[in-house]
Amino acid sequence: ERMELRDILHLETRTSDGRRIKLFANIGNLEELDIALKNNAEGIGLMRTEILFMNREKPPSEEEQFKFYRTVLERMRGKPVIIRTLDVGGDKIIPYLYAEIGKEENPFLGYRSIRLCLNRKDIFKTQLRALLRASIYGNLKIMFPMISCEEEVLKAKTILEECKEELRKEGISFDRNVKVGIMVETPAAALISDILAKEVDFFSIGTNDLIQYTLAVDRTNESVSYLYNPSHPAILRLIKMTIENAHKNGIEVGVCGEVASDENFVPKLIKLGVDELSVNPSKILVIKKKVLQTKSNEDIINM
Ligand code: PEP
Ligand code: MG
Repeated sequence: ERMELRDILHLETRTSDGRRIKLFANIGNLEELDIALKNNAEGIGLMRTEILFMNREKPPSEEEQFKFYRTVLERMRGKPVIIRTLDVGGDKIIPYLYAEIGKEENPFLGYRSIRLCLNRKDIFKTQLRALLRASIYGNLKIMFPMISCEEEVLKAKTILEECKEELRKEGISFDRNVKVGIMVETPAAALISDILAKEVDFFSIGTNDLIQYTLAVDRTNESVSYLYNPSHPAILRLIKMTIENAHKNGIEVGVCGEVASDENFVPKLIKLGVDELSVNPSKILVIKKKVLQTKSNEDIINM
């Protein structure tokens, strides 16, 4: 009866009533990739790329990024790897990118993430070209963070197409069908998820920011952390709405925020209909055990 974690290492992740849940890992560096591999992650649900840009004077070159992304894809041996484009700003500070704008009153609501990338096409295209070049070494999916309106998705996709066109002209190969998704981590994105679902191949719900922006609670401020409540009905409703709109449009939804690594929250996510959980690599087996013990439709959530 008692399930030991080492016994479940090679088990497929299914709920007790047989629903398949993809169990992926969040990584930001190669050490975390090692842990994900050791724990038999089925994929990478979120690779943060900010670390590549940190502790230096200028952005990494296309070649340097290409080599890094290729390494991750090769080591995952054809399993899905969702790499997120630069999500700088807010809690993720990279000083040299902010030289031209200076201090902001509300950095979390400011010039950051996809907003900066759409304005700094040089930085964005370098990363997208590196990702596309790496795409032939595994199963890459590209993900855009901090989306708050449809126009951002359309612009990001147009720039990606420009990069593909450049590579085609240069005779450089890439995966022509590389999948593109977005983070749903602003209330606006969740509320227009019916529209956004028609533009992308997958969603990944970023609860860390979704909670912060929905509840108006700074995720880094200890004084208000008592209000940072993942089970707030507003959060559960936005997650439910996002999943329903995705499924109506035939796309899958993962959750890559911290709540996916929380054993006590995982049953809620499963009942809300999530397809994939992307967790802290050291929590993979603990979460797998929880999924195996969860019945996907056993009770209704209070929301
Ligand atoms: C999130 O916002 O939930 C997320 C996964 O992204 P990050 O924590 O990097 O902002
Ligand atoms: Mg986020």
